Amino acid sequence: MKILFLGPPGAGKGTQAVRVAERLGLAHVSTGDMFRALDPDTDLGGRVKAIMESGELVPDSIVIEMLENRIAEPDAADGYILDGFPRTRPQAEALDASLGDDGLDHVVVLEVGTDELVSRILARGRADDTEDAVRTRLAVYDRDTEPLIEFYEPRGVVRRIDGVGEIDDITAEILSAL
Ligand code: AMP
Repeated sequence: MKILFLGPPGAGKGTQAVRVAERLGLAHVSTGDMFRALDPDTDLGGRVKAIMESGELVPDSIVIEMLENRIAEPDAADGYILDGFPRTRPQAEALDASLGDDGLDHVVVLEVGTDELVSRILARGRADDTEDAVRTRLAVYDRDTEPLIEFYEPRGVVRRIDGVGEIDDITAEILSAL
């Protein structure tokens, strides 16, 4: 099974993706985690760190190559949850090209209102969560990533989930929607 988690920053995508991956025995594939694991003293790691701190997106070519290598690893052979990829139309098209007919089974969209998002993000205090970066990340989501919901909608795979509530209840809702 291949599942994509979509939602604005602060919607709880990462938290829920980890929980659902554990319950279903799927690999959890997070491009954000992969970027945070890069050594910032390397050329690539340094460039990526600066981009992440600005709230902008890492260039598609870098992300796509990294993601394709990751899903070719043995632990992803039985399925995976994509958390944070694709975030742009070119990334979604590259994913389609590499999956072929064996496409995504579900696209889980976590819905949370903007005020709730901003207070959640500022409360978690991650290194790339400065106020300017948060504002940029929300705008980038609206501009580049949110349109992917309409991109996947005609395939009948989009599952919209209310992302406000108890963590356990949201996980249960996601599981029952799959
Ligand atoms: P995340 O942990 O998913 O919130 O990602 C943190 C940051 O990593 C993002 O704000 C981007 O700068 C970068 N990033 C993660 N995934 C992608 C992606 N698919 N495309 C471009 N940049 C990404």
